Amino acid sequence: MINIAKKTILSKSKYTTWIKDELSITKTKVKKWLVWDDLESRIYEAYFDTRSVVIPIPVCGWSFLVALHEIGHISTGDRNTNYLREYNAERWAIKRAKKYNISSTGYVKEAKEYVKSHIIHDIIHCNLKVEKIKPYVLKWLNTTYKNISKEIEVAKLK
Ligand SMILES: [Zn+2]
Repeated sequence: MINIAKKTILSKSKYTTWIKDELSITKTKVKKWLVWDDLESRIYEAYFDTRSVVIPIPVCGWSFLVALHEIGHISTGDRNTNYLREYNAERWAIKRAKKYNISSTGYVKEAKEYVKSHIIHDIIHCNLKVEKIKPYVLKWLNTTYKNISKEIEVAKLK
């Protein structure tokens, strides 16, 4: 039953057609299509070694961006810091979505929060030095080394 339902959603959406195009352009395979659930965004994955992804069946602009984010990981490659890996995937997804006239200020806002949370995580847990954060990332986040340092102090207290 679930498979039939999945196939029906897969064949109907214009977003799916676009995602299939992007998969083909980036030579990415789908390991698994999942039914979109905006509460479970952590279950989507990209696997660099096999150039494959677990993505939602896109049914709206937001889920389309989430699927693009995972493809973005494959397209932009692995990095040795989490924040840079996420930044690259987010920028790629947002830029790529524009090609299809899809944009969401809400998604961009969350993407920035997401990248920032990875910066804080990398600093606290992975030995990233604040001064090593790429300036173009801070610029996109509309923040400064000083503000990030302040946020780290707050995060450490939690
Ligand atoms: Zn990601």
